[in-house]
Amino acid sequence: MFEGALADLIDELGRLPGIGPKSAQRIAFHVLAADPVDVRRLAQTFIEVKERVVFCRVCGNVSEADECRICRDPRRDTTIICVVEESKDVIAIERTREFRGRYHVLGGAISPIEGVGPEDLRIRELMTRLADGTVTEVILATDPNLEGEATATYLARLMGPMDVAVSRLASGLPVGGDLEYADEVTLGRAFEGRRRIEF
Ligand SMILES: [Zn+2]
Repeated sequence: MFEGALADLIDELGRLPGIGPKSAQRIAFHVLAADPVDVRRLAQTFIEVKERVVFCRVCGNVSEADECRICRDPRRDTTIICVVEESKDVIAIERTREFRGRYHVLGGAISPIEGVGPEDLRIRELMTRLADGTVTEVILATDPNLEGEATATYLARLMGPMDVAVSRLASGLPVGGDLEYADEVTLGRAFEGRRRIEF
């Protein structure tokens, strides 16, 4: 229907998650009508996020420095680690203001169907962090779905022989859902009511 640069833009936008052909067209025409200065600024943010954002050396969270803002913060409790799948989950938990420890971002969940095994996640890095005995509690805050549960069970077994208290977020979270979509109150309560896992 369209050709050249406009067609290319619609094509590229349509590849983005959650954007169907209609939305892609609507955004493309919005860009076409927009002030060139605004468009240039938008394009620049895409480039900068790829150039500047890296992953924290310690926890794997997104960061613009070698270590992320949370790992650098001396007020955060170093004895407790909350394990999540993605950086998006860190943001969701930070919003609840229930947690003052540090995080560990796995970079996904175990999923045999999608070919993701424990070795594809930042599990070895987590074990390294636990090795010196500073950490006394680990909260498993993986998603309340099949993959998240499998990952939590795997980690709990792995940490079973270690001298660390392992807990899982309490129920109340929508089963089969995504942690990042849970509202602050539900997620906050799930934190308070976390239960100890023994192996
Ligand atoms: Zn970090």
